[in-house]
Amino acid sequence: MPERYIDLHIHSQASDGTSSADDVYLRAQRAGLAAFAITDHDTLDGYFDIRNLVDGDKIELIPAVELSGYLKGADVHILGYLVDPDHPLLTQRLTQLKQARKDRAASMVSKLNQLGLNLSLVRVQEIAGHSTIGRPHIADALLKNGLIANYDEAFQKYLGTDGPAYEPKKYMSAQEAIGLIHSAGGVAVLAHPGILGRDELIVDLLEMQLDGIEAFHCQHDNYLTNHYIQTARKYGLAYSGGSDCHGLRKGRFLLGTVKVPYSCLTMLRKAREARLR
Ligand code: AMP
Ligand code: ZN
Ligand code: FE
Ligand code: FE
Repeated sequence: MPERYIDLHIHSQASDGTSSADDVYLRAQRAGLAAFAITDHDTLDGYFDIRNLVDGDKIELIPAVELSGYLKGADVHILGYLVDPDHPLLTQRLTQLKQARKDRAASMVSKLNQLGLNLSLVRVQEIAGHSTIGRPHIADALLKNGLIANYDEAFQKYLGTDGPAYEPKKYMSAQEAIGLIHSAGGVAVLAHPGILGRDELIVDLLEMQLDGIEAFHCQHDNYLTNHYIQTARKYGLAYSGGSDCHGLRKGRFLLGTVKVPYSCLTMLRKAREARLR
């Protein structure tokens, strides 16, 4: 049988992707994937949009979410896979996070105004719609209002982690993010450690019962992918991956372009079983 591939890191319009969940589903089918996961920031709304639509005999839809956990000054992204999407504690916490993101956006818009950029929160919310609001929506608003020349300028000049309008997300610790995923019956995977660039934090995360590491990612070259596979093996963790597709936001549609073998999903399922035992 030919190798089957999966993409376990995709964003939809429910957070900062440019595609609807239906479109993600269509493209996942076209890419010939065996399984896919919509991993929106702080929400499962994209998953809910299509869960009754997906033909599970042809392609598996994995319930998932990407949380931001604060740890030693870093914004550590934790992917939660195979969670119970209707778990009350998870639902409650995600609702709170949505509001916290709104408050954070208000603070960043206020900083931009202090810097002399005339941008209203209403405009940003208009662009974000029902999505969990984030920096990409603010960047879109700046661009659409002609306050910057291109999308990247928003991050380079204002919204990057060292930028004057940046507001860190401190509303959840990495410990809480991992704990919440476990409470909802899922497994916690460290997202794109190559972007994080803080490998020393992996031992802290191990103590917090991290289950896996994302080795395959659009911003991991072969060297980094192998490095994180070896790291996962060293600690007895699962490894997984995906494209981190944000639709057309990053210029090119990345869904399915990072080759992740199906065996990664099997590893996540085994890690989940081990945790439930
Ligand atoms: P937030 O969750 O509000 O902190 O926004 C994080 C998102 O912003 C990431 O998922 C990326 O899509 C985007 N982002 C972060 N840094 C940059 C950057 N330097 N250039 C372009 N996009 C970025
Ligand atoms: Zn994103
Ligand atoms: Fe991320
Ligand atoms: Fe992501």
